[in-house]
Amino acid sequence: MIINSARFVISNAVVRKCPKDSRHEYAFIGRSNVGKSSLINMLTGNKGLAKTSSTPGKTLLINHFLVNDEWYIVDLPGYGFALRGKSQREALEKMIKGYILNRKEMTNLFVLIDSRHKPMKIDLEFFDWLGENGVPFSIVFTKLDKMGSQAGKRNVEEYCKILLETWEELPPVFLTSSETRRGRDELLDYIEQLNRL
Ligand code: GDP
Repeated sequence: MIINSARFVISNAVVRKCPKDSRHEYAFIGRSNVGKSSLINMLTGNKGLAKTSSTPGKTLLINHFLVNDEWYIVDLPGYGFALRGKSQREALEKMIKGYILNRKEMTNLFVLIDSRHKPMKIDLEFFDWLGENGVPFSIVFTKLDKMGSQAGKRNVEEYCKILLETWEELPPVFLTSSETRRGRDELLDYIEQLNRL
């Protein structure tokens, strides 16, 4: 898919204020610093679209970006904020889960995982929750350039092997780097396919 335009539309904290034009939308989520903003900028070819390294405020909201005047990228807040207070963390979790469960337009959720990491409890619990609720999702491994592509690939294989100890099959898996633009065509082709459904 060729990206001709991408622009910010709205930030908000509740599903009912999300755009009402029934376009397909694709949400991106991951722990903070996973490379989510960089990936959104890389996909859209717009370096300033999602703010890298957190703009206070926006990172706690549901952000809609309209791509090619046709579909939305939704930038969700990172989960597992160890540093925030309990009540704020709970409110954030409620907003994110409310969006994921109630937003009919969300065609797929891309869950970002740093390709250098081993499976962490918080990610595995989140995957289980998605599975239990029948949420369509894919795993996007980020920063594949950081370890060198062979070591990164091996780590991803190891990660997937651990998931397969409890899952019957894997969801779609993408290997990406915002530095080298690896995985860009695969992700955009996947979105294009889903847009046609
Ligand atoms: P976010 O908090 O998930 O939005 O993460 P950012 O996109 O702000 O990225 C966090 C840090 O990782 C920044 O310093 C980025 O430059 C860096 N980063 C993100 N993606 C990549 C990547 O694919 N390769 C490398 N080498 N660095 C990356």
